[in-house]
Amino acid sequence: MSTETLEFQAEARQLLQLMVHSIYSNKDIFLRELISNASDALDKLRLESLVDKDLDADTSDLHIAIEADREARTLTVRDNGIGMSREDVVRLIGTIAKSGTAEVLAKLREAKENAELIGQFGVGFYSTFMVADRVVLTTRKAGEAEGTRWESAGEGTYTIEAVADAPQGTSVTLHLKPEDSEDHLYDYTTEWKIREIVKRYSDFISWPIRMTTEKTGEDETVEYETQTLNSMKALWARPRKEVEQSEYNDFYRHISHDWSDPLETIHMKAEGTFEYEALLFIPSRAPFDLFMREGKRGPQLYVKRVFIMEDAEALLPDYLRFVKGVVDAHDLSLNISREILQQDRQIQAVRRRLVKKILSTVRDLQQNDNEKYQTFWREFGRAVKEGLINDTDNQGAILEILSAASTHAEEGVTTLADYVSRMKDGQQHIYYMTGESRSMIENSPHMEAFRAKGFEVLILTDPVDEVWVERVTEFDGKPLQSIAKGQVDLESEEEKEAAKPEQEQRKKDFAELLTWMTGALSENVKEVRLSSRLTTSAACIVGDENDVTPTLEKMYRAMGQ
Ligand code: ADP
Ligand code: MG
Repeated sequence: MSTETLEFQAEARQLLQLMVHSIYSNKDIFLRELISNASDALDKLRLESLVDKDLDADTSDLHIAIEADREARTLTVRDNGIGMSREDVVRLIGTIAKSGTAEVLAKLREAKENAELIGQFGVGFYSTFMVADRVVLTTRKAGEAEGTRWESAGEGTYTIEAVADAPQGTSVTLHLKPEDSEDHLYDYTTEWKIREIVKRYSDFISWPIRMTTEKTGEDETVEYETQTLNSMKALWARPRKEVEQSEYNDFYRHISHDWSDPLETIHMKAEGTFEYEALLFIPSRAPFDLFMREGKRGPQLYVKRVFIMEDAEALLPDYLRFVKGVVDAHDLSLNISREILQQDRQIQAVRRRLVKKILSTVRDLQQNDNEKYQTFWREFGRAVKEGLINDTDNQGAILEILSAASTHAEEGVTTLADYVSRMKDGQQHIYYMTGESRSMIENSPHMEAFRAKGFEVLILTDPVDEVWVERVTEFDGKPLQSIAKGQVDLESEEEKEAAKPEQEQRKKDFAELLTWMTGALSENVKEVRLSSRLTTSAACIVGDENDVTPTLEKMYRAMGQ
């Protein structure tokens, strides 16, 4: 049978050039790409055989096999999936049909350092040329008699020929480049290296990935042992009802490196235009780096069970950075970059859904498992409150799950809803005071009139409280009001009417003193006023409605502003 030499399409040639010159720093991903293709081919065959009962194909033992030959320095990935016809090979492997390829290539050439840019489309099969100087692909389409052999050194042309005895499916053999150094870290023929890559990137592929290894027995006999390298447990893809909590917990520990069980497990699945599955965990305690700038954030991202990246921070807002887990999105490129993820409209839609689900899960805890809710708020409340500042869409939902200390009880916290339920007749506002500590706030002169009147005051002592109270105007129709700012009106209308004559008289009596004091203190205060808010203290300092509070002033100074 004759061998034909064909040319790669221009764009394919350019992409190959980039691969040969290794714009990617992480070469390991070639194996992920091959396994992903093999897995797709097995998925397709399974589907095809279900649809077409007459298809002459063997589906009895669908799997992926990896074979390494240390002497020959070859690595083969084999599948018994759908395979390709000769036309398929020319069309699928010889060209890049994806739109926008030219633009992406131009950008890539400009920014050789920025490997993540490549995420516009899958580099896929061509990534093999990062590690191989010759690649041979043999394939036979399920149901067809004749096979095809394709071979290339990645330099502009490839050869193609018919083969008579190819098994069903596809095998790709890489002739690995000479090793750069003695460094076995990069030896893709070693068993542990292959194991490591499979474990890291492809553990949850739902087909078995097998490898046969040689073992020399005691009496020098060579034995062969075939092992399955992946666990195949894509927990998130299984129906919730069929998964035990202990399995969820094991998986949580695997991805989080946390010893304890998660506080709550969230398993969701979306069908329709943008399909995805998410398996998220709320840990039972805050990580040490929750408030560190470099702390890890975001779940793992998978695309159809192929691992794409750790810490996909685009999938969750910062204030939910403690949530761990996996999001498996079905319609993304395997090489999607972080930058592109941030802008992707579908990812943003997924993110909105995840946030709503997490907040409603916490709300459920609050209503049905208060002990868990208390743990949640103690560990993560401080982070969640950042959302009141940045996530205006969900401000209402966050306010519902918010808790704070209050003068209502010596210990513990209250929700805003509970506060509102205890509001006195005629009380219009939700009163709060921010400060460094509970005792400072309780002993503040501002508190006196509120205590005397029996009004409850929220005690807010986290630095972030200073900021969110400025952004939140109301809860349940009740405006929030700092007791340390502006004129706080504690009198009812009748009380005011009754007190008027006396106040007028007092104003007259003290007018001279107040003018003198305002002058004497003009360096330090704006105005000296007669107060009705104090009962035992002689005087107190009150902020203007728009002034920064003392704690916030300190915080700004600490941040160097
Ligand atoms: P992608 O997987 O993103 O489509 P690839 O470069 O990885 O891009 O592969 C190109 C195409 O080649 C695939 O879409 C598929 O049709 C075909 N292909 C690659 N590997 C296999 C395989 N093992 N079995 C069948 N078809 C394959
Ligand atoms: Mg692919």
